[in-house]
Amino acid sequence: MFSLIAWVIASASTSRDPSIKLTAQPICGTCLSPPMPFSVRMVLMASHPLLFVIPTTSYQSLLGAPVYPPRPQRIVVFDRYIQYRSVAPKTVSHSRWERIFMHSGKDAVRSFVESVDVYRDDTADPTFLSADEVDTLQGRLLRDQIVRLRESSPYYSATLLDIDLPDQMSRHWLEQLPFTRKDDYQAAPERFRLHLESSNPYDRTWGLVHTTGTTTGEPTPFYDTGHDMLAYWQMLLRTCKIAGMTPDDVSVSVMPVPAMSHNAFISSRDACSVLNSPYIAAFVGTPQPEFPIHRRTDYALRLIERNQATVIWGIASYVRHLVMRGQELGTDMSSIRLVWALGEACPVPMREDLRERLASLGAAHDAIRINNGLGFTEMRGTFVECLELNGCHNPSPDLFIWEVVDEDSGRQVPDGSTGSLALTHLNRRGTALVRYLTGDTVAMTRESCVNCGRSGERILPQHESIYAARVSDWVKFKGVLLHPAPILAALAALTALTQYQVILSKSDTSDPYSMDRLVVRVAESTGDDDLRGRLQADVRQAVHAACEIRPDVEWVPASAIYDPDVSIKARRFLDERPHQEHGVT
Ligand SMILES: [Zn+2]
Repeated sequence: MFSLIAWVIASASTSRDPSIKLTAQPICGTCLSPPMPFSVRMVLMASHPLLFVIPTTSYQSLLGAPVYPPRPQRIVVFDRYIQYRSVAPKTVSHSRWERIFMHSGKDAVRSFVESVDVYRDDTADPTFLSADEVDTLQGRLLRDQIVRLRESSPYYSATLLDIDLPDQMSRHWLEQLPFTRKDDYQAAPERFRLHLESSNPYDRTWGLVHTTGTTTGEPTPFYDTGHDMLAYWQMLLRTCKIAGMTPDDVSVSVMPVPAMSHNAFISSRDACSVLNSPYIAAFVGTPQPEFPIHRRTDYALRLIERNQATVIWGIASYVRHLVMRGQELGTDMSSIRLVWALGEACPVPMREDLRERLASLGAAHDAIRINNGLGFTEMRGTFVECLELNGCHNPSPDLFIWEVVDEDSGRQVPDGSTGSLALTHLNRRGTALVRYLTGDTVAMTRESCVNCGRSGERILPQHESIYAARVSDWVKFKGVLLHPAPILAALAALTALTQYQVILSKSDTSDPYSMDRLVVRVAESTGDDDLRGRLQADVRQAVHAACEIRPDVEWVPASAIYDPDVSIKARRFLDERPHQEHGVT
């Protein structure tokens, strides 16, 4: 096995020679246990389309269903110069996707699940239980997890020690417990790691990811054991299932290469791996001269074109930047049918803008789906849409209870009401949290979805098309509370805007006591003065309609607002007033 892995690595490293064609013989899948395949995978990711097949060894005793689908064992490596089109997975016609998506509804979703073996084999998928059955399952798992925390969590063992544990528990039992705040977790992340007295190798630490820290301070480590990784992969498979991906899809990820292990970069790769679907990491991101492996946007576009990618994974604002650059280059993006626009809000106008731009590059307009989940590092994944704006599903109700709460009373609010989102893990061995406030305001329902029939928590759209408003983004402006979400949604509706940014400033920047001022920075365009004048009027009118404030409009170079070589996300909202904490959306 070791010699085989060495051969694969050596072959990959020499494959820059276009005369070399890489293939691999079938290998024993059970050898692909952590951590060895990770190194192989990373080597291959850096330069090749990769179909990574996970072994059949299952873990049914703990998770109740096979994590690894029983599929033929194989690794296929394609040389990128000579074999792209000839050995790429079979070309998928749009009519297939239209069959999946144009006829949405419970029966269509069920038949779709039955048509894909890796989904059909996940017979314990709890999202297809009734709402009552999900409640019962979550209550049982919650009891087990609380017992585990009492014994093994330095942070929770004391607070949970004297609490009565009824035989039949439910999410309402949680209402008596205090919240865990981000500050608590960030101050001492090691205290949230379980110390299990176990000889089970799956209870050992497998790895960690970091929270982004962009809105809450320092990045914080979040640990996984082998057990948690299996649960995570299973959740990703269910995420793909809800979104309608299949093993025939070809993904290109433009998630940026992060400085630290970060969920967004890793989970797109792992989702495709567990789905047994071809995946290419474009390796975009901030260049590091010492190790020049980062690639440019233009290269990512060539990868999409050459491989006839059907799926793009990326941060919403970067995906838009990518597609706009594709329009400049005339890139063939006719095969794209699904865009994962993650990491930030992607309101309806932005979705429509993306769809129009992709259609201009050959994609079938009505078959393009933009999936905007609401994700968290502490979840290791994302809520996911079964249908655009039909709500965001919890893909694994057997891994989390999500509450929407009133922080003052500690009580859960009724379904459909807005409150603070709190996470409780149900089946974790690494870092585990109880009533953890994510910092987002959401509305949620537990009613079965009218589109797909799934149960479990589903987050509902707010402000027409945004799933969450960040609590910390509330600011005082001219003495009243102001939230950027409706302003940004209004600006996103102006598709003529290529880049924009909302700034809170002062009328005299040298005087902290002067009047507050709201400025919208707009990317300069080459249009004529009439166009510019109309756009300025539209911006002022849109912002006024959203918050009854008339903004000043400033024209700046697009790179002054968003430079993808510098930042993962576009910074759409900044508070530049003196003595104010800067808010970032
Ligand atoms: Zn649904």
